[in-house]
Amino acid sequence: MLGLMDAGEVGIVIAQDVSRLTRSVADFEHFLEIARESGTLICSNGGVCDPASDDVAASLGLEVEALFGAVDNRLRTRRFMAARIARAREGKAVSAPPVGFVRSVRGEWIKDPERRVQDAVARVFELYPKLGSLGKIVAYFRENGLEFPRRSRGSVKWGPCDAALIHSVLRNHAYYGAYTFMRRQSKKRSGASSVAVKFRPVHEWIVKHDHHEPYVSREMWHRIQEMLAAQRRPFRRLVGKGHALLPSLIRCAVDGCNQLMRTHYWGRDGIARTASYTHFVQGDWGAHTHRVLFPARNIDHAVSEHVLKSLTAIDDEAARTIIERDQQDRVSLERTRRRQLLDAEEDVQRARQAFANCAPEFQHARADLMAEYDAAVRRHLEVKTQLASNTAPRVSMTAADVGALVHRAQNVRQLWASPRRTNEQRKRLLRAVIREVVLHRADRAGADVEVVWHGGFRQRLRVLRAKGVEAAVAERTRDGKGTATIVNELNAEGVITAVSRPVSVPLVTRKQGHRGLRLKDERRLARQIIRQGLLDRRSRPEILRQLAAEAPRLPWDPQRLSEAIRQLRRGVGDVDPLPRVLPAEQDKQQILDLIRGALASGKTWTSIARALNDSGLQPPRGTMFTPVQVRLLYLRAHALRSFKLPSTQPDHGAANA
Ligand SMILES: [Zn+2]
Repeated sequence: MLGLMDAGEVGIVIAQDVSRLTRSVADFEHFLEIARESGTLICSNGGVCDPASDDVAASLGLEVEALFGAVDNRLRTRRFMAARIARAREGKAVSAPPVGFVRSVRGEWIKDPERRVQDAVARVFELYPKLGSLGKIVAYFRENGLEFPRRSRGSVKWGPCDAALIHSVLRNHAYYGAYTFMRRQSKKRSGASSVAVKFRPVHEWIVKHDHHEPYVSREMWHRIQEMLAAQRRPFRRLVGKGHALLPSLIRCAVDGCNQLMRTHYWGRDGIARTASYTHFVQGDWGAHTHRVLFPARNIDHAVSEHVLKSLTAIDDEAARTIIERDQQDRVSLERTRRRQLLDAEEDVQRARQAFANCAPEFQHARADLMAEYDAAVRRHLEVKTQLASNTAPRVSMTAADVGALVHRAQNVRQLWASPRRTNEQRKRLLRAVIREVVLHRADRAGADVEVVWHGGFRQRLRVLRAKGVEAAVAERTRDGKGTATIVNELNAEGVITAVSRPVSVPLVTRKQGHRGLRLKDERRLARQIIRQGLLDRRSRPEILRQLAAEAPRLPWDPQRLSEAIRQLRRGVGDVDPLPRVLPAEQDKQQILDLIRGALASGKTWTSIARALNDSGLQPPRGTMFTPVQVRLLYLRAHALRSFKLPSTQPDHGAANA
């Protein structure tokens, strides 16, 4: 009608109600625009209005009417849908039955009374478990001259069957007696007349079991589904352009999630583009209810390092699988590009047709169509050149090649690192050997991932980020590992720094510094222990024991301890110097003074020892003074070889000892 109006062939449009004219307000605006340009009158609710006139009030009235109409339409649709859902919940069928069933007079589903239809459907469910392949069923029908019914606009049409049709029958819940509603959701694509259909999550479905007479038992139906699933070729995704190695391979499994992660490139084009794997879920209020983000470089490096390590131990069997996967990849890539080309060709055809069909007097429309046509041709050319440049010569592998591949796998590390290797090739290699990478946990310190190989073999992997590296360094340092050992271990585990460099000695030292774990720090700690020990009058063996426990990375023995004490006396930068006279030395002086005094007054060694013990003083080693010790102390302090008590009544026991 709009076309006719535009052509000036319509004088007046008569509608019972404006809401009957269009479904949405935007459409009505468009309609009004055309009516205004072509001078068409509009008659509704008994009134006539000329949109081209200056009577703004009249057309405003129409617009308001249209607005109410649109709202009314929307409400009616919603109410209609709500009623259908309510009926479906009661177990009543509100959608049309698939072929093989018909609706009875009372609205129930019954098997199609036509015997031929029943037989055809039943045959499919009988054949599949036996033949195990859709292609074989199609062949069976063809060889036996059988046809399969389809329903088209209410009536049944017979024709040859194909795999897609058989598949849709085998997958339909209705055939085991269940009625399902709300399985799919359709959304109108913006700016197009086509509709996007996708499945709703299972918990949203409305399912009524034993709703009608089945063609196949429920157990059998589920067994068939398992068989179909086993036949399904795994979905192979295309290799993208970015430098992240695992896009479309990495799946989020944090908090029971099960979604592919997106690859997000940060930074503007040309300037540092760093990739992260992300999975965000937004709640009703726009806030993230689930937010998983991990830098791609860390996972990429850890996973590829892991893969390379495993690949160096590859055998013939694995090699053959890899080759097959790689070929599948190439084929699917080419198939996709060919499909794109076909689509583009079709677009060109359609545009050309539309342009040819447009009468010469519609200048604007022709210009519009011309532009569309031009765009279609350009797109077609683009796809064509892409296809031509990307079709690499097909390689067919032989047993000898497999041998060669195994040989090459031995030095796959060089292959991987070779400057001629492109990132796309690296991605393809990863895809050829691993099915997916599952991310189980991720935080600032690191991530727990699981590498799933194509064979189904799973391996857990810990991926560390800067914070995690620091913790790992600290832990290993405390275990008494040397810096070089720590560097080697971390590199072997596929750890890299924040700027994608391997772990180095300076890095490890720096991390130790952050945690106060450098040797320098340990030396300072040791000096503090020694100083405190001396001030507390602790014995040297006691101090050595404490050093071995608290500063284990330094080798401790009595000589080193003496050396350290000498240094402390001289004064070392970061620790307070020792007092000039140590407490122990003060004690010694006191003891010697006491002995000297006692000797002068003619005491025996035994009585001197007793007096010393009574005074609360302690010998340098041991807890009690003995007469022998007292004598030795005195002799050493005065550098004497022997000493005879000056007393008139010599203490033989002590002197002889
Ligand atoms: Zn997630």
